[in-house]
Amino acid sequence: MKKIQMVDLKGQYDFIHQEVTEAMTEVFETSSYINGPMVQKFQKDLENYLGVKHVIPCANGTDALQIALMGLKLEPGDEVITTDFTFAATVEVISLLKLKPVLVDVDPQTFNIAPKAIEKAITTKTKAIIPVHLFGQCANMDEILALAKKHKLYVVEDNAQGIGATYTFPDGSKAKTGTLGHVAATSFFPSKNLGAYGDGGAIFTNDDELAHFIRGIVNHGMYTRYYHDVVGVNSRLDALQAAVLKIKLQYLDFYNERRKEAALRYNNYFNDHPNLIIPHREADCDSHVYHQYTLRVIDADRDALVVYLGEHEIPCGVYYPVPLHAQKAYKDSNIDPKAFPVTNQLVKEVISLPMHTELTKDQIDFIASKVLEFF
Ligand SMILES: *Cc1c(COP(=O)(O)O)cnc(C)c1O
Repeated sequence: MKKIQMVDLKGQYDFIHQEVTEAMTEVFETSSYINGPMVQKFQKDLENYLGVKHVIPCANGTDALQIALMGLKLEPGDEVITTDFTFAATVEVISLLKLKPVLVDVDPQTFNIAPKAIEKAITTKTKAIIPVHLFGQCANMDEILALAKKHKLYVVEDNAQGIGATYTFPDGSKAKTGTLGHVAATSFFPSKNLGAYGDGGAIFTNDDELAHFIRGIVNHGMYTRYYHDVVGVNSRLDALQAAVLKIKLQYLDFYNERRKEAALRYNNYFNDHPNLIIPHREADCDSHVYHQYTLRVIDADRDALVVYLGEHEIPCGVYYPVPLHAQKAYKDSNIDPKAFPVTNQLVKEVISLPMHTELTKDQIDFIASKVLEFF
């Protein structure tokens, strides 16, 4: 059996190396490294895939979040509500822009921001909500959008882990994550579901005016060359990365299907285990693209399980070990740690098993057998 990895980028590359080489050669031949035709082709392909009017490529997912917020013209001190249980980038950009992050607790089943907690946190200063489709699972967008409408708030989706997932509204209508709010941000970090061979990111929106404004922000606030109308940034997607992404986008649904298959195989082992809770999913499987396969370990020692798997050369991850409200950078004496019972519990229980597109049945069976052996 091949050595098990958390993410197997080399194994995935082996299947597409010829196509990737051809696309990269096209970039070398045209010598158009910044913006240029390859970036535009990828942008169009992604717009078509998502069913969104505008994709604005940029340098990475953190920039994408920051630029999306800059696009909304919020004022210092405006409050932005987001989840306590996510990667730090989500809250980092809020603080960097001198906005006030308001962290709220999550749903114990989906690990996503809890609409009830959002509602309680809304004040007259609240301007936006950032739901994160954590581990690849859609947040409860129906309720979040309803709250946003009622209180006139922007919704900025952090879709870094959710690309390719399809959200089904209660009336049965469907749309891709990243097209549901006013604006969305995604990351093409190599290990993400749609990963480049370096950094990359993008902003999505259906709003023409906002798209135009954001296209200027990513390019030094320029709308006419050398006329700077707003303070912008320099955040571009590399043409070579666009070449890789253009190829990999053609496989995204296939890749997400592979992830789903792996998750369902894991589920078969852990389904009725008294010490394990498998990832929640809606009846319609498309709402989860399994960026991570994350179990909760109940009434047992999660950290000992991590060590045990390590002894058997099975990598695993704890995403995330510390709630954001307890991180040094985001600590605030006005925050009551008791306001986050679910996150405080999850950080002690979660464990993410290897999840990627090249996992074999043998590897999954081996990993599962070792997890079960631990208990
Ligand atoms: C990866 C990630 C980001 C940041 O993306 P980068 O491309 O690494 O800057 C933001 N939010 C979430 C939830 C992520 O998982």
